[in-house]
Amino acid sequence: MDLSSEFNDLLPICPHGPLFIAGPCSAETEEQLVTTAKGLYAAGIRMMRAGIWKPRTRPGGFEGAGDRGLEWMKTVKQETGMQLAVEVATPEHVEKALAAGVDLCWVGARTTCDPFAVQALADVLCGVDIPVLVKNPICADVNLWLGAFERIHNAGVRRLGAIHRGFFSTTVQQYRNAPMWEVVEQFRHLIPQLPILFDPSHTGGKRCYIRPLAAEAMSRGYDGLIVESHCRPDEAWTDAAQQVTPECLGEILHDYF
Ligand code: PEP
Ligand code: MN
Repeated sequence: MDLSSEFNDLLPICPHGPLFIAGPCSAETEEQLVTTAKGLYAAGIRMMRAGIWKPRTRPGGFEGAGDRGLEWMKTVKQETGMQLAVEVATPEHVEKALAAGVDLCWVGARTTCDPFAVQALADVLCGVDIPVLVKNPICADVNLWLGAFERIHNAGVRRLGAIHRGFFSTTVQQYRNAPMWEVVEQFRHLIPQLPILFDPSHTGGKRCYIRPLAAEAMSRGYDGLIVESHCRPDEAWTDAAQQVTPECLGEILHDYF
């Protein structure tokens, strides 16, 4: 299977070198976002991520700041000039994100598993010109991942990119989600022109794994990274163990700038 002709009309998502996106797992408060953003800007990051609507595996935890979080993201853009990236899982998320001036959106690993959800996103993304990134599904089903790209591409979106964030495994192993480098290489061969980023935070699950996993991805020719960073990582409301300070991230990424 070679899909390069089907996807021969892709447009760039980051024409000038690798794309580094960083920011907290979740938008918690305006102060947390702005403080983190200023630190990231000083570290050379120009696109800020933050989860606004959090897809929690089990209920009862923090489910995201919602509309207020988008307002805080607008403040980040005003105060730093950084571009904004958020996860979208429903058509309403897309509409709100676009209205807030978000510059890139991504489909999370849980959403990629659901063709109905992906089709609903594709329908509302129809003709949208901002980059849309799609994380690998939780299980290593390459066709499910591919299907998500086909649905969104069929809707006329031309700025597409993939994110490898590791895969769920029932066997005890060191990482939160096992990186499957070879499976993803096969996927990359199907659409060679599709840019791919790596997410060392959700793959590793612990901050000590960010540096080595990022290095592995960059040595494999990945087109960038999406990394979780928080001004006070240990106090983070979600995914505290895998977040690093902007200063620490700047040091990790130093070699790639
Ligand atoms: C995230 O990036 O905030 C997230 C929820 O990640 P994933 O979809 O990879 O679990
Ligand atoms: Mn997270």
